[in-house]
Amino acid sequence: MNDYTKLHDSKLVADWQSLLRIFISTENEAAKATLLKYMEQILFGLQDFLEKHVGITEEISLNKLNSFYRDSKINCNPEKKLANVITDVIKNVTPYAVNVASPYFIGHMTSAIPFFMVHLKTIVSALNQNVVKLETSKIFSVIEKQVLAKIHRLIFNKNESFYQLHIQNANTTLGAFVEGGTSANYTALWVARNMAFAPIKEFRGIDKEGIAAAYKAYNVKRSVILVSRRGHFSLRKAAGLLGIGNENVIAINVDKENKIDLNRLKKAIHEITQQGNIKIIAVVGIAGTTETGNIDPLRKIGKICKENKIHFHVDAAWGGPTLMSKKYKYLLDGIETASSVTIDGHKQFYMPMSCGMVYFNKPDSMDMITYHANYVNRPSSLDLGIKSIAGSREANSLILDCALKIMGSKGYALLIEHGIETAKEFAAEIEKREIFQLITCPELNILTYRICPPEYRKKLNKYNSKDEIIINKNLNAINQKVQRIQREAGLSFVSRTTIKTEYYTEDIVVLRTVIMNPLTNIKILNKILTEQEDIYKKIS
Ligand SMILES: *Cc1c(COP(=O)(O)O)cnc(C)c1O
Repeated sequence: MNDYTKLHDSKLVADWQSLLRIFISTENEAAKATLLKYMEQILFGLQDFLEKHVGITEEISLNKLNSFYRDSKINCNPEKKLANVITDVIKNVTPYAVNVASPYFIGHMTSAIPFFMVHLKTIVSALNQNVVKLETSKIFSVIEKQVLAKIHRLIFNKNESFYQLHIQNANTTLGAFVEGGTSANYTALWVARNMAFAPIKEFRGIDKEGIAAAYKAYNVKRSVILVSRRGHFSLRKAAGLLGIGNENVIAINVDKENKIDLNRLKKAIHEITQQGNIKIIAVVGIAGTTETGNIDPLRKIGKICKENKIHFHVDAAWGGPTLMSKKYKYLLDGIETASSVTIDGHKQFYMPMSCGMVYFNKPDSMDMITYHANYVNRPSSLDLGIKSIAGSREANSLILDCALKIMGSKGYALLIEHGIETAKEFAAEIEKREIFQLITCPELNILTYRICPPEYRKKLNKYNSKDEIIINKNLNAINQKVQRIQREAGLSFVSRTTIKTEYYTEDIVVLRTVIMNPLTNIKILNKILTEQEDIYKKIS
C-alpha cells in the first residue's frame, strides 16, 4: 500500500496514483502499521545480523562480490517493493558488510555507536532540514549555534560573557559542522591561507584574486604548512585544493614518543623566515595522531606560533573528546592556545557517519571565508551556508545536541577512560608475550606492535644496519601475512600500517589497534593475540 508500485499482470509497473501516495504522510492506521513494520524490519533485522555475525564479514572474495554487481542499466519499471528491498538488503547485503560494531573489530577509528544514534539519525532524515539557510531550518540553525558554543567552551573555555555575546550572534561564528575531519582541516587551512594573504593596498585578498596575485602582492614565491611526520594525509589534500601545492606541507621529524620535535620545528621556522620569500600559512599540532594516537606538545607549539605570529591549527579529529575526561584532559594541555581546532563527530563522539567540526578561537575568523548568494543567504543572518564549504547540509548538530544530553560529559568520559586504560592493559600484555614487540605505547587508546620473535630481536640488536634492513624486511612480510590471514579468518580485525621509527633505518610494518568499543576488554584482546601467535606458528 505504501509501495509506489502496483502489480499489473504480476509485473511491477510505476503508477502515478501510487507514486503520489509515497509523498503524502500516512493517512490512516493501516498505513502507519505498514511503516512501523518496515521500521521494525530494519531495526531488528539488522540487530539479528549483528548478533549472528560476531566476526567481521562472511567469507567471500571481492571478485565474487563484484561479479554480482555488474549491471549498469536502470530498470524502466520497478523491480521490487519496499518490503522486499529491505528484506533483500538484510539478507543479501548486510552479511557482506563489515561488522564495525563487533568488540573484536579493533583496527579502525570506526566502531560501535550507541543504539540511540540510529533513532536520532532517523529524526534528522525525517525532518530533512537544510541548514544552508534559515528558511529551510529555523530552530535547527539556532540549536547548531548552541552546540557549537558548548564544544567551543570545552576547547577554549572563555568566560560566560564571551559565550553570551556570541552564542546566538548572527555576525560571529564559533565554528562549523562539516563532513568530517578532512573538510574540517580544509576549512581551518582555508581561513589560515586567506589570513596569510589578506587584502593589502591594491590587493583585494587571495580568495578574490587567486594565488599568483597573492604571491606577487606579498612578494613571496611559496607558502608552506608545517606539521609533524605523523600528520594526517587530509592536510596534503587541503594544500592541493588551496593551490599551495601538497609538497609544501613540510613534515617535521618526531621524537621517540611520536611527538613533533620542537627544536626541529623552531629550526624550520627560523630557516624559512630567514629566506624572506616563503610564507608560513600555519603550523599544525596533532592531538591524537591517526597511526599512533600521540599528542604533540600543544602549549609549546602555541607559544612558538604566537612568537612568530603564525596560525596554529590543532588537528584533534581523534583526541578532541578526551577533553570531557577530568582524568585525561591534561593530555591536551594548551589546546586553548590554538587559532583553530578540528574535531570529528563520527569518531570519539560516537556519532553515525558522517560528521566533523571545526572551531575557531576568534569569533570573527570565519569572516575570511564568507560567501553570499542573493537567492539563498544574506549577510548578518543565521544562514549557516555563508561560512562553509558545503551548501546544502543536514542538521547533524541535533544528533550531537541530543547525544550530549543523553550521555553527559561524564558518560563520554567513561568511554574515553575505558579506551585509554584498556589500551594500557593491552600494551602490558603485549610486552609479556615474547613473540610480540610493542612499537608505540598508548598515550590515548591507540597502540602499535608487531610480531618480532626473540630470535629476530636478538639479531636486530647484534647486527649492523645492512642486516637490520634484511631482518626488518622479513619481519614486515611476516606481519603482513599474519594480519591478512587473521582478517580473512573473520573472527577479529586488527589493521596494519607502515611507520618510520627512531630505532630502525627500515620502515616497519606494524599492527595497529584502536580501542573505542566499550565491549572490547582485555579477555577479548588476549584472544586476539593468541590467534596471532597461532597464525604465526602455523606459517613459520
Ligand atoms: C580521522 C582523522 C582525520 C580525517 O577525518 P575524516 O573524518 O576521516 O575526514 C584527520 N586528522 C586526524 C588526526 C584523524 O584522525
